[in-house]
Amino acid sequence: MFTKNEMEMAFKETDMLFDSHAHFDDERFDSDRDEIILNANKNGVSYILNAASDMESAKMSIALSKKFHFLYAAVGVHPHNVSNLGEGVLSELVELARNSKVVAIGEIGLDYYYDFSPKDVQQEWFGRQINLARELKLPVIIHNRDAHEDTMRLIKSEKAREVGGVLHCYSGSVEMAKEVLEHNLYISVGGPVTFKNAKKTIEVVKYVPLDRLLIETDCPYLTPEPYRGKRNDSSFVRLVAEKIAEIKGISYDEAAFATLNNAKTLFKIE
Ligand SMILES: [Zn+2]
Ligand SMILES: [Zn+2]
Repeated sequence: MFTKNEMEMAFKETDMLFDSHAHFDDERFDSDRDEIILNANKNGVSYILNAASDMESAKMSIALSKKFHFLYAAVGVHPHNVSNLGEGVLSELVELARNSKVVAIGEIGLDYYYDFSPKDVQQEWFGRQINLARELKLPVIIHNRDAHEDTMRLIKSEKAREVGGVLHCYSGSVEMAKEVLEHNLYISVGGPVTFKNAKKTIEVVKYVPLDRLLIETDCPYLTPEPYRGKRNDSSFVRLVAEKIAEIKGISYDEAAFATLNNAKTLFKIE
């Protein structure tokens, strides 16, 4: 038998993490998707937000959200995949966003590192999808790689602050973080904060107030240390929470609860 206190502790242990950015629609989960999702939930990941990368993945994200009560969906088109989008995409996204488990537009943004789509096309669709989010009153999930200046410019010109959102897997400076926070956006960190070369991200985590921080895995990518190189999944978000606690000098419980509550607030989950 457990005492009441022990029960409460056990409950806390199993109900406190929010993985705010996952890609369980990815083909790397084809052989064991359901099992891995359920296992993460059993191991204390009480919420997962699955981010879309294209229209197919948006539909799959919604299908997963219908299957698992603790999994929510975002719909949107990643900058890698915007080069051949037709006009009909926006109305299709509106249609998909009607689903009650869709809580954000994403992931959208700019990626100048891989440059899979022409920069001007990336900018056009980033802007259009921010506007769509405003129309639908949904927060945005923003991807930015090596495009800090243009990302901030479009956040401002397209008034992303009206709906808020998050810069996921944040890789910018403390100076940029200040601007991001001023524009009603949260900052999310994932596995890279545990890497050896994480100095800059650690400075950012120190700087960002605890009530503006989210955690994520971006799985199957970016597995935290000491499992770097293996396939990532939501259960590894615990390692990110541990690192946040260490950097901020707070308890693990506090880091987990704060980031969970922040995500629930941003995505308006009861
Ligand atoms: Zn991303
Ligand atoms: Zn992602």
